Amino acid sequence: MESPPPIAPLPSEVTTPDGFHSGFVALIGRPNVGKSTLLNQLVGQKVAITSPVAQTTRNRLRAILTTATAQLVLLDTPGIHKPHHLLGQRLVQSARGAIGEVDLVLLLVDASQPAGRGDAFIVELLRQARAPVHVALNKSDCMAAEQAEALIASYRALMPEWPLHLCSALSGEGCPDLVSALGAELPPGPHLYPPDAVSDQPEQLLLAELIREQVLHHTREEVPHSVAVRIERIVEDDTGKAPRTAVLATVLVERSSQKGILIGKGGQMLRTIGQGARLQMQKVFDGPVYLELFVKVVPGWRSHPGRLAELGYRGD
Ligand code: GDP
Ligand code: MG
Repeated sequence: MESPPPIAPLPSEVTTPDGFHSGFVALIGRPNVGKSTLLNQLVGQKVAITSPVAQTTRNRLRAILTTATAQLVLLDTPGIHKPHHLLGQRLVQSARGAIGEVDLVLLLVDASQPAGRGDAFIVELLRQARAPVHVALNKSDCMAAEQAEALIASYRALMPEWPLHLCSALSGEGCPDLVSALGAELPPGPHLYPPDAVSDQPEQLLLAELIREQVLHHTREEVPHSVAVRIERIVEDDTGKAPRTAVLATVLVERSSQKGILIGKGGQMLRTIGQGARLQMQKVFDGPVYLELFVKVVPGWRSHPGRLAELGYRGD
């Protein structure tokens, strides 16, 4: 069976410029300080739900921001507050978990109010973090000019050791400088996601797992343990006779011998894997799917388990 041409160029061969930085940034702060709003502002589109009612964010969400010099993978966390009930405890645990896994912490505060006891609680928590901490003094648009100095001073006194950035998640004021500062603080590293990605959709994880499942079905021994799947693109294609969903994915392996096994004689193995995954995906989308798989050797991709777990990659 002849396969149709690719829908869009694959971004998997992205070349990362020298001096590029990348990593994970946890957005930490009390409920309602504007974490989700900032995420959407930075990424340039809506990826997080925001609400004037506290605690709409119950799960961690990843948003991706790529500039010419850095890629930031931002984790929106449920707001930290002193836990009064079980859900509160869970939310705090989740935010604490994020602090331990990231390269950088961005503490967001509502700077239209003076620093208070709730802020002191978080500051104590973050002083135990291994990662560097930056602070966004958000809601600068709500600061009366004559109060600004005193408000900033109250935060400076509470956290003298961390860089402070004045910004408004709502208007975008101060955000470009914030992004530059955060990018420069991340460790040197390659693109972790395609440059045009904005969010790590659960749908993508599901599709990746469907492909990995077929790899587990059809290969033996060391191959399944060395495989990760990255969904590069999901495109609604209505250019042909019947609309279909095109999925472009890369299967990462550690060695070229594994690549050989996955592709198989004359490409037979990759076709079998692709066919099986495509049938499953058609159930997900409830319609025709065109799946294009690439295999790429990335030596030692498994050696950063924390980072890979965040990417949704699993080695087992
Ligand atoms: P989260 O709980 O920290 O995620 O906070 P949200 O992003 O859901 O925002 C809580 C409320 O604050 C919403 O009504 C936002 O519109 C508002 N908000 C967020 N950032 C700003 C800002 O920079 N300025 C102003 N005036 N309001 C903001
Ligand atoms: Mg939120």
